Amino acid sequence: MGKYIVEYSEKGCIGAGVCEAFSEKDWKVGPNGKAVLNGGKFDAAKGVWVKEIDEKDLPANRQAAEGCPSSVIRIFNKDTGEKIF
Ligand code: SF4
Repeated sequence: MGKYIVEYSEKGCIGAGVCEAFSEKDWKVGPNGKAVLNGGKFDAAKGVWVKEIDEKDLPANRQAAEGCPSSVIRIFNKDTGEKIF
């Protein structure tokens, strides 16, 4: 089963909650009005939150990324580096 990397740039998040609507497992809008990528780690060099997900969680996260009005969610294939969204 393939692995994917979700990257999330908190700075541009406007708290619209689309991500949470598609995947409550991976996303939650916090009290500060910014989404939290559950279980994510902050990559200080890139300035983004990063989380590895399984292929089964790809569809929901892809919908989150596509639906995010601020376009602050990116998804990459972990093995090939290919940008999925
Ligand atoms: S959908 Fe995008 S803008 Fe909305 S809460 Fe999630 S990350 Fe933030």
